[in-house]
Amino acid sequence: MTICIKSLIKNMNIVVGCSIGCSYCYARNNCRRFHITDDFSVPEYMVRKLRIIDTPKPHVWLMTGISDFSDWKPEWNAEIFRRMKSNPQHAYIFLTKCPDKISFSTDDENVWMGVTV
Ligand code: SF4
Repeated sequence: MTICIKSLIKNMNIVVGCSIGCSYCYARNNCRRFHITDDFSVPEYMVRKLRIIDTPKPHVWLMTGISDFSDWKPEWNAEIFRRMKSNPQHAYIFLTKCPDKISFSTDDENVWMGVTV
């Protein structure tokens, strides 16, 4: 049996943009194509998407599909993680290419942090 990973993980895209600037970045191309933000290199917090977390059906959410967790501001983290805590039915994935820039920790067992290279 074949299972497509896209059917198991949903994108939250609650932050759009990334300052890292990889030449091969598909997210930057998509943001330009659909004009999601004015400048992809300046991450924007899409606060209106927070309500998506409240969906009762459990999902695995990729929180950083078009951003890098190292760019997230502490005040964004505080609000998003508070909302995640009140929705323990989900699992949340965060990825970064710059773990050395991150000063953050959580005891939430449904939060998965990863490094991409
Ligand atoms: S880290 Fe990811 S989102 Fe950021 S520029 Fe590179 S590929 Fe794009």
